[in-house]
Amino acid sequence: MSAETTIATRSLTKRYGDVLAVDGVELDVRRGEIYGFLGRNGAGKTTTIRMLLGLIRPDRGEVEVLGTRIGASSREVFSHVGYLVESATAYPNLTVRENLDIQRRLTRAPHAAVEEAIEAMRLGEFAARRAGVLSLGNKQRLSLARALLHRPDVLVLDEPANALDPAGIVEVRELLRSLSSEHGVTVFMSSHILGEVAHLADRIGIVSSGRLVEEIDREQLRGRERSHVEIGVSDPVRAATALGQAGFARIERDGEGLRVFDARDRVPEMTRALVSAGLDVTGIAPVREDLESYFLRLTGDGE
Ligand code: ATP
Repeated sequence: MSAETTIATRSLTKRYGDVLAVDGVELDVRRGEIYGFLGRNGAGKTTTIRMLLGLIRPDRGEVEVLGTRIGASSREVFSHVGYLVESATAYPNLTVRENLDIQRRLTRAPHAAVEEAIEAMRLGEFAARRAGVLSLGNKQRLSLARALLHRPDVLVLDEPANALDPAGIVEVRELLRSLSSEHGVTVFMSSHILGEVAHLADRIGIVSSGRLVEEIDREQLRGRERSHVEIGVSDPVRAATALGQAGFARIERDGEGLRVFDARDRVPEMTRALVSAGLDVTGIAPVREDLESYFLRLTGDGE
């Protein structure tokens, strides 16, 4: 594990009966980055997060957080980690402020931390209200406030946008962005909504049926939004060479055909290059694949 790695997993695997909930996941989350763990319902996000936090034990593989291998004697590292998991519940009969004060004492944070967390999650209006009567969105804010309160170096958040209204989602996004960019906090967050992580994450890991099927960074994400041209051609290998010579830089094999990126406006030129190389063109179609359909295709729902 490099010094820049904050969360690492190796061969992380968990099975529930017949269901392989997490299947050999290898993660390297770098210090200060926002990593979006994206997958559909049941993909294995929560199970992975529970293993990162030592809440359940993997069947195979291992987890390291801040250089500490997670296991029976890894409690100390969690003083540097803030987390929000589905089952996190507040004491319903205590107020928001009292709940946060308990968290403060547990984490030995300074007194001022409670008001700071209330302020950060805009819970001022509700601070004296019992946690049990909060709206779902405000319960989520309280859970986030608890996660942040002791100023952890690492935040592990399972579906942080759950139950938040659109304004709340933007607020949390800005908060996480500033924690990462100004304070070097590493954020690992799961989501089933592409738009949510696409706006925020420096890197996205796409998980499907327990497997990490692809990792993409912000730059690649933008690239994916670009259109490409699908070409059916008699000899794809020779066609790729001919197009390369004609100045087309991004060419991928796609079954019996080719995909050429950044070429939407150059279809005539492309056809000429193929024909003059003596190739038969059986089809040529510009395609615009947005991120959503890309994600659906990767996670097996786009066919
Ligand atoms: P969601 O977005 O719906 O929360 P997820 O990506 O977090 O989904 P997990 O909760 O990790 O998915 O579940 C992965 C798979 O493991 C699912 O098929 C789920 O039914 C199964 N699973 C999770 N926990 C258990 C458990 N305690 N016992 C049996 N099966 C489980």
